[in-house]
Amino acid sequence: MHSSKKVLLVFLPSESGVDGARSLYSEKDTTSIFSWFNRSLRTIIKQSQFAIPPLSLMILSSIEVEGVEQSICDMRFEEFPFHERWDLVGISVQTGMAKKAFALADTLRSRGISVVLGGAHVTLFEESCRPHADVLVLGEADDLWKEVLTDLTTGSLKTRYQSDSYPDLALSRPVMKASLIKNRYFTTNLIQTGRGCQHSCDFCNVHVLNGHTLRRRAISDIVAEVTRFKEDDHRIFFFVDDSINADPAYALELFRQLTPLKIRWFGQATTTLGQQHELLGTFAQSGCQALLVGIESIEATSRSAHKKNQNKSGELSAAIKAIRDAGISLYGSFIYGLDGDTLETPAAILDFISDTRLDVPGINILRPIPGTRVFERLREEGRLLFDPLDITAYRYTFGQEMLYTPKNIPLDAFIESYSALTRQIFTMKKSIARGFDAPSAKTAVLFFNLIYTHLYSLSRHDLQQQLEKTPMEKTILPYAE
Ligand code: SF4
Repeated sequence: MHSSKKVLLVFLPSESGVDGARSLYSEKDTTSIFSWFNRSLRTIIKQSQFAIPPLSLMILSSIEVEGVEQSICDMRFEEFPFHERWDLVGISVQTGMAKKAFALADTLRSRGISVVLGGAHVTLFEESCRPHADVLVLGEADDLWKEVLTDLTTGSLKTRYQSDSYPDLALSRPVMKASLIKNRYFTTNLIQTGRGCQHSCDFCNVHVLNGHTLRRRAISDIVAEVTRFKEDDHRIFFFVDDSINADPAYALELFRQLTPLKIRWFGQATTTLGQQHELLGTFAQSGCQALLVGIESIEATSRSAHKKNQNKSGELSAAIKAIRDAGISLYGSFIYGLDGDTLETPAAILDFISDTRLDVPGINILRPIPGTRVFERLREEGRLLFDPLDITAYRYTFGQEMLYTPKNIPLDAFIESYSALTRQIFTMKKSIARGFDAPSAKTAVLFFNLIYTHLYSLSRHDLQQQLEKTPMEKTILPYAE
């Protein structure tokens, strides 16, 4: 009798941010109060079930092939189960975690376990991944994964899988949650509605990886999935789609059909939603509690320099107020340090937050991710501060490290002004006030603000350390190729 092939899909934690809340510099200093506080906070974050499940691995583990058993190892919560037999281990590789992924892959292969690597980093940087894997999967794996698993059962695994086109999301692909341990997560109700983005913001890799064409799942599939997911988990739903309101007719129909199910949900949208009055009302009626919107910049020159063209800076404030007035809280994501920004920009951001009463402001530093246009441009302009081939430089840092030189602001002045900005936004008093002021999801808003109050203090600490430990006149110089 043949036993089933056992496949494990591995998700790795980030180096920092909400997965780690760790200083990039102080971890070895276990005696300081700062380190003690960081470790305590990491435990609190973990135990508060802030984490959401790895959606891509949920999707892959739901693909059924006879003779294959799949499970998920979420290494935010558990060690790799070396004591069990694995016929194939799949690791999802993001650029910021590539070093960690490669180390795990090398260890597994040294023990005779076959490793397949996939994910954004593999798609963009195949050659750097090749030495660490038996199999590479390039691009979206929805169709390819079935082929990989089938080949595993017949002992005919290839070294490389890539398809010529994006998967058709309109095909029915039910997602299962059987591989998840429910209590670990903030919710297990994570549902993807579509992929792709029509826009071309130069710092973003969504359109690079998922294309410019909007691909949507069938509304009937999503409604069936929500109904099924709701049965065993009554918590909040997350709809994952970078541009759910880019196709207003689709979104209107979807959320009209979801309204009778009486769920509460979080999602993402563009600020254009504030001008789409009928859709905005339907979002609110269908249970939308909070949305993440990418504001990025309120400076017109920065928006045009980075191809963030979908709406004008002058329309942002009214759009955000309209969404909040509909009873939906907003996480607004900014990037300070874009090419049109000056030392006047922080004051404008502060005014904007105060005027719009934005519920959770995310104040990011530009991260030139390899594979994006901004990365190539900064490299050509000699503004990258690290070796572009050094994958360890692109660890996820939550604004804890500068990777490039801003165009109009000297680096030390930028760090000083960025730190002053986050210090003014994330005081304990203001964070608590934003929680109480939120139109909905008050607890989540309060929680985010409090966590961010700490994370931005880590950011200030680490940026200062970066300046002190690597004197600017010597080592923080543009990387010379
Ligand atoms: S930042 Fe948002 S709008 Fe811009 S390309 Fe990325 S997903 Fe699309």
